[in-house]
Amino acid sequence: MPFSALDLHPNLLKGLKELGFAKPTPIQSDAIPHAMAGRDLLACAVTGSGKTAAFLLPILHQLIDRPRGTTRALVVTPTRELAAQILEDLNDLAVHTPITAASIYGGVGMGPQEHALRSGVDVIIATPGRLLDHLKQSYANLSGITHLVLDEADRMLDMGFLPDIRRILKQLPTKRQTLFFSATMPGPIGQLAHEMLRNPATINLERKSAPAIGITQAIYPVVQELKSALLLELLTRGEMQEVLVFTRTKHRADRLQKFLAKQGLAAERIHGNRSQPQRTEALAGFKSGKYRVLVATDIAARGIDVEELGHVVNFDVPMAPEDYIHRVGRTGRAEATGDAFTFVSPDEEQDLRDIEKKLGRRLQRVTLPDFDYSARVAEKLEVSQAERTAKWREQKTKERANAKAKADRRSQAETEMRARQEARPARGASRPPARGARPAGSGQISGGAPAASSSGSAGGAARSGSQRSGSGRSGGGSSGGGRGGASGGSGGGSRGGRSR
Ligand code: ADP
Ligand code: MG
Repeated sequence: MPFSALDLHPNLLKGLKELGFAKPTPIQSDAIPHAMAGRDLLACAVTGSGKTAAFLLPILHQLIDRPRGTTRALVVTPTRELAAQILEDLNDLAVHTPITAASIYGGVGMGPQEHALRSGVDVIIATPGRLLDHLKQSYANLSGITHLVLDEADRMLDMGFLPDIRRILKQLPTKRQTLFFSATMPGPIGQLAHEMLRNPATINLERKSAPAIGITQAIYPVVQELKSALLLELLTRGEMQEVLVFTRTKHRADRLQKFLAKQGLAAERIHGNRSQPQRTEALAGFKSGKYRVLVATDIAARGIDVEELGHVVNFDVPMAPEDYIHRVGRTGRAEATGDAFTFVSPDEEQDLRDIEKKLGRRLQRVTLPDFDYSARVAEKLEVSQAERTAKWREQKTKERANAKAKADRRSQAETEMRARQEARPARGASRPPARGARPAGSGQISGGAPAASSSGSAGGAARSGSQRSGSGRSGGGSSGGGRGGASGGSGGGSRGGRSR
């Protein structure tokens, strides 16, 4: 189906033609008609499937012939890179239209963004945090929004943007079209979508999968953790008989072979750590049918004549596009008996794009029907790396603050003890009077201090002052939660003390 079948505005078709987009991708041909008709949309499709144009085209189409001068469409996206990319895509698609757009994200000046909001550009593409900064000001008014897009919703939730999104939603008219795009659909996303959307058209390209049968080169988007399970599933379902599997590392080759063998599959492996006789045996065994699966590292595989072998699975996306092309990308391959599957995890998308660029075409994405793609993923999404890092940082900050407070308390106690000792001459104490023994600062003495710290009563004011400033500062460093009071009264003095 060509783009012209979608009834898009002629000026958009013109832009598409210049961009070299010959026909819509599956998500585009599925999503655009619903969105053009004004329906809400819940769309789930993997990264790289063309989601940006899937939401931009219908919105541009609806905006073109209507009065301008107010911001009517808002796209919310998790990162500034994505915001910049979407703006670029929009400018390409809208080149023959009068539609204007601006991006709003942190790390750059507010001025131009304020100007864009004041002047009522047609489309705003924003990250949540910076948009909220603007929304605190009177000039930012989103009451004219008729179209809202949430792009990469799963990632936004993963990055902890849910409260921000809710705050933004409060400032938007409820009567609007909402397009909700996500690469995955774990529970919390479904929940948010349910809250935001009204009778949405639902498109899930993960479930409505194209069968792999008859495809000579197919891409299986799958998270890293489920690759072994997916391979096993393909093998047990008989999607392929004998198969040569490529992995990026020796370690992965070993682990995969062990996993398959444990599942009762005849599998062998070849890689740089295996002796020549071992490799020869493995390869011969594979060719004779003794082994159903041969796992090989990219490097060890270079010497193998893949063409005459059966099915090929790139368990990892080859780093070098040439490796891919050597294995499966040749036209001759289409006449060979086997198929070539490539498993691509989200972090390998870029490598895949490089391959596609080299090939000059997009490879078809497929999903294995009834394979539980969300198996352990939902769990994983709940604690993202970013969240873990944030938690860890918070913990560290607390620890540091505690250590600092303890040290301060200790030195305070010491000072008090010294003061007491000086006040009433020691009664036969083993400790000599400390007079002149150490300068004003706190020494390294650690024994004895805790006992003294609990008894301290003299000079309470001075003590609490220094204690508070100690913990206040280390706390304030990262979380901003440090007691503001510290900087109020004793700020100057305490800072001097700490910098020592
Ligand atoms: P997603 O948002 O789903 O990750 P993008 O919208 O960023 O994917 O699109 C991925 C790539 O595909 C981009 O480089 C884009 O220019 C290209 N693309 C999108 N639609 C088409 C099309 N219909 N024909 C050819 N290329 C397309
Ligand atoms: Mg995208």
